[in-house]
Amino acid sequence: MKCSDVCYPNAWPSEPAVASISKRILEQSRGSDGDIAACCRQLMDIHTTIKSGRLAKKQDSTSLRSRPKGGIMKVIDPYFEILHMADAHEIYRHLELAARTCYKSEDRIDQGTAEALLKRLLKTGHEIVIEHISITVRLVCDRGVTHELVRHRLCSFSQESTRYANYSKKKFGREITVIKPFFWQEGSDQYKEWESAMEACERSYLALLDSGAKAQEARSVLPNSLKTDIVVTANIREWMHVFNLRCSPASHPQMRQVMLPLLNEFYTRIPVLFESLYETYRSRMEHFSTKL
Ligand SMILES: Cc1cc2nc3c(=O)[nH]c(=O)nc-3n(C[C@H](O)[C@H](O)[C@H](O)COP(=O)(O)OP(=O)(O)OC[C@H]3O[C@@H](n4cnc5c(N)ncnc54)[C@H](O)[C@@H]3O)c2cc1C
Repeated sequence: MKCSDVCYPNAWPSEPAVASISKRILEQSRGSDGDIAACCRQLMDIHTTIKSGRLAKKQDSTSLRSRPKGGIMKVIDPYFEILHMADAHEIYRHLELAARTCYKSEDRIDQGTAEALLKRLLKTGHEIVIEHISITVRLVCDRGVTHELVRHRLCSFSQESTRYANYSKKKFGREITVIKPFFWQEGSDQYKEWESAMEACERSYLALLDSGAKAQEARSVLPNSLKTDIVVTANIREWMHVFNLRCSPASHPQMRQVMLPLLNEFYTRIPVLFESLYETYRSRMEHFSTKL
């Protein structure tokens, strides 16, 4: 092999041969012909470059082969939907009837008496009365938020199960859905880091299912940001308690992202009962808007 052949890679013998020839020439030429030695060093470098390039290509094609079809998750914002709440007039009347049972003053029920009575009761802390009405809400948020929410023992919950929902199925579009972390600007380094972690989770989840794992097993690699649906029913007293804890600045930002707009909705529909909480948190509500 001549030095000039280096310029014509097609004329090279197979790569291992290039390596061994150049190594031999290099050894033989040590201390004699500087040009040949330099040329052989170049040959060795080229060989190393080609070899590492091939290796990288091979690794790429291996991961492509193992990359499951479909995927590249959906990213959404959280939101809520009121599933069941009676109208304000009906709620006030119902609660008034319960309260007046205590005083045997049902005969005083009239236009506007319910609102005035309820305001007085809330001020004095006679809160058992507001347990007589329940409200049901669907929250669509991440599993980090619901993990905290389900600690509220007086609520009733029905939540999307990662044991039974198999996101590789057609009805889920063969992809996972995740909740966008609002505190990272889209396109920022932190957001990109989060995004690539989500993609990796999805890739592994689908690969596990494709390899025969059950959904309840593959879920081990699902992230905290996974979107979940949860239906929550609680009486008004418990909702007030939940808002008190979960709208507070001490609570997780993504919890507040859901709870502040929900409190705003409760206040809009039944202002007599939620006015005080609304006033406490109204200045913080404008940052969030997650209503369906
Ligand atoms: C900012 C914040 C940080 C938190 N950090 C953590 C944490 O790091 N680790 C952690 O484990 N949890 C944490 N929690 C969860 C917290 O400790 C409560 O479990 C959760 O907020 C539910 O509150 P709760 O028990 O008052 O509500 P609910 O379960 O809704 O109960 C409502 C109310 O009923 C009464 N009640 C219910 N059950 C009982 C009972 N068995 N005995 C007596 N009274 C009862 C209490 O008055 C209670 O306040 C945190 C909560 C918040 C808001």
